[in-house]
Order: sequence, then C-alpha cells, then structure tokens
Amino acid sequence: MLILGVWIVYRNIKKEVELAQIKSEFVSNVSHELRTPLSLISMFSETLEMDRVKTEEKKKEYYSIISQEANRLSKIVNSILNFSKMEAGKRQFNFVDSYLNDVAENVYRSYKFHLEQKGFKFELLKDETIPIIKIDEEAVSEAIVNLVDNAVKYSDNNKEITVRTKLESNYAFVEVEDKGIGIPEKDQKKIFDKFFRVSSGNVHDVKGSGIGLSIVKYIMDAHKGEIRLSSTVGVGSKFKLMFRLNAK
Ligand code: ADP
Repeated sequence: MLILGVWIVYRNIKKEVELAQIKSEFVSNVSHELRTPLSLISMFSETLEMDRVKTEEKKKEYYSIISQEANRLSKIVNSILNFSKMEAGKRQFNFVDSYLNDVAENVYRSYKFHLEQKGFKFELLKDETIPIIKIDEEAVSEAIVNLVDNAVKYSDNNKEITVRTKLESNYAFVEVEDKGIGIPEKDQKKIFDKFFRVSSGNVHDVKGSGIGLSIVKYIMDAHKGEIRLSSTVGVGSKFKLMFRLNAK
C-alpha cells in the first residue's frame, strides 16, 4: 500500500512538473512569435515617422512590411483564440454543402502572390470530379492554411509546395505537399499533440507555438475525417485531409 501510495504521489508530481514545463515553453514560444512582428512594425513605422526614408519606392516597401507583419500578428492571435475556444470545448462548427475545390482554391489564391514573392513554386492541382460534401468551409480553410504555413516554415532550399484535391475510395481529400526538411518517423504521431515541436535539425530556428497541427486534428475530428501523413527527413512531407463522401 505504502509503495503504491508513494508511486502515485511521485507520478502526480512528475505530471505537474511536466505540465508546468510545457506551459512555460508555450508562453515563451508564443512571446517569441509575437515579438518579431511587433519589433518589425515598430522599427519600420518609427523610421517612416522620422522622415528618414527618402524615396517613394522605399516608403512603399516599408508600408507593405508593416501591413504584412500586422497580418501575421492577427493570424497568431486568432489561432491562439481558436485554440483556447477548442480547449474549452466551445468551438462550434457549421457544416454546409460545399465544394472542396473552392475552399482549396480560395486558400491558394490568397497565398499565391505572397509565396511566389518568397521564391516558392506554388501549385494547385484540382480533381474536378469531387462532389459536394458537408464541411465547415471556414474551419477547413483554416486547416489548409495551417498546413501551407508549416510547408513554408519547414522548407529550406527546395521551395516547392503543391496543394492537390482528389478522390480516393470513399473519401475526398485535400493534400499539402512540400519538399522541406521532413519529419523523423518517431515524431510523426506526436506532432499532432498540442505544444509538441520536433526538437532536432534546424526546427528551433523556426518560430512556432506547437498548436497549429493540434488545431488541424481537432477540425478533422469534428468532420469525422482523417489525416494521413507521409514524410521523409530531407525529402519532404505530405499531409492529406480526408473527408468521407457519404458523411452526414
Ligand atoms: P509549430 O507552431 O511548431 O509549427 P505545429 O503544431 O504546426 O506547430 O507543428 C508541430 C511540429 O511539427 C513543428 O514544430 C515541426 O517540428 C513539425 N512539422 C509540422 N509541419 C511540418 C512540415 N511540413 N515539415 C516538417 N516538419 C513539420
């Protein structure tokens, strides 16, 4: 009895300590993610305010950096808000008849310019035979955006991202493929856990809070769908979001 009691106490304390560690890591990751856009915004706006920028062209460039970084900030804040709603079990979904191709196309269109500016080859390949399915368009679009964001973050020299829609047996899927750093096999299951980040390679240079894929998983669970991942270190990754065709 005594041994069992000691073991239970030990296990609980260990859990608490781990949780505290995860929490503090999360706070530091998020702060880190927020700090970069904030400092860029304040630096470029101060330079403009002091009238230090001489040419119109340079001014335009600075304005565009400010607006890009402000967008990035609001994306980070939105994703944290969505995450906390999800944690509280308060996130609601609105499933309506939709074309998966349209959702994928909207994400593609809004990212195309931005990614090409960053030197990416970005492609959308649609299967036009995909029928109407019942999905929450906003949530699915958020899931695709999270995957594309990761594909960008975890690509190094080979900047190539493909978004593909297709039918496969009883499923319609949308897939995001990159030629980036890949994910070690031992971590492939864990990356969908909240706060988990792969701790090898150059990943630590890349900013992130470790909640993106847990949001994707939550969204796919709400759709009673599946996520399939195939990834090889140094070659690239493919994330497939599978939606059942006859889902009610
Ligand atoms: P993060 O904010 O860290 O990007 P995510 O939940 O989106 O959080 O991803 C969890 C981890 O999975 C990342 O930290 C990274 O290690 C790994 N990962 C996710 N997507 C990719 C990808 N396309 N290529 C390589 N690694 C990835």
